[in-house]
Amino acid sequence: MTNIAFIGLGNMGNPMAANLVKAGLKVTGFDLVEANLDQARSNGLGISDSAADAVRNAKVVITMLPAGRHVLAVYDDVLGAAEPGTLFIDSSTIDVDSARRAHEMAAEKGMLSIDAPVSGGVGGAEAGTLTFMAGGSSEAFALAEPILDPMAGRIVHCGDDGAGQAAKICNNMILGISMIGVGEAFVLAEKLGLSHQALFDVASTSSGQCWSINTYCPVPGPVPTSPANNDYKPGFAAALMLKDLKLAQEAAQSAGAVTPLGASAMQLYALFNAVGEENTDFSGIINFLRGQVKD
Ligand code: NAD
Repeated sequence: MTNIAFIGLGNMGNPMAANLVKAGLKVTGFDLVEANLDQARSNGLGISDSAADAVRNAKVVITMLPAGRHVLAVYDDVLGAAEPGTLFIDSSTIDVDSARRAHEMAAEKGMLSIDAPVSGGVGGAEAGTLTFMAGGSSEAFALAEPILDPMAGRIVHCGDDGAGQAAKICNNMILGISMIGVGEAFVLAEKLGLSHQALFDVASTSSGQCWSINTYCPVPGPVPTSPANNDYKPGFAAALMLKDLKLAQEAAQSAGAVTPLGASAMQLYALFNAVGEENTDFSGIINFLRGQVKD
């Protein structure tokens, strides 16, 4: 049986690891937070005393950590303890430069590696329907695919080292910009006396159509499953949207790309977070565009 080490058992990592256990794989976990370890134990994981201990007999190491600095620190800690040839999969959302550095560190120790960030949120992690965007060699991807499968609805090999992270932040930059655009259109429609339903009926079937209006409409009514119908409970929290837009701007600066709308979207989401809306669904920015802020 393939032994898997899973490091980072938070909101995403714990349900992802639980799906690997359900698929019959042997998973040993590590996290810094005791309550997360208790949850992992009750999900059927073995628990190690340290990250290095968790990887010692593993054929595959999966990390699901907050940011690039955590991933690089864990890689630094565990690469010496793993057997050469072990496959390292980092599913955290991190900056492209750190992702490429993590690949280099793994290769220097004779490991295979892919970056494989996800979309789909905690709901997708629980249901095993995440979309994985993978970057790395064909050899590493071929080994990773069957491991990712119990956690995935879709797995896309996007290219070489860092391509998964690049795809994730480009996609989420489109999403942040398009949600603000859709929000502005509804606010303008309100001022012009146009009903939400009328704008939806036209724009969702015309050239304005996009996921932010067709699937995740930011006003209540037209799409009953969107967070707008549930007091803007996430969903996808504004804090996570801001994180991804910052990563997109870091990547744009590092690569010399000009992304003025991405920069504006980041600034607007920074303001939205700063007025205390970090835990509001990101589509709630429409209320901010109306000039409404919390009491
Ligand atoms: P989280 O904060 O709930 O979990 C991260 C875990 O990493 C924590 O439990 C923390 O204790 C652990 N950790 C930190 N440093 C560690 C170390 N040195 N050793 C072991 N464990 C360590 O975050 P999350 O919501 O599970 O997100 C994880 C990653 O997935 C992030 O990069 C996030 O951007 C990304 N992501 C999250 C969502 C979502 O909806 N939550 C969706 C897509 C992607």
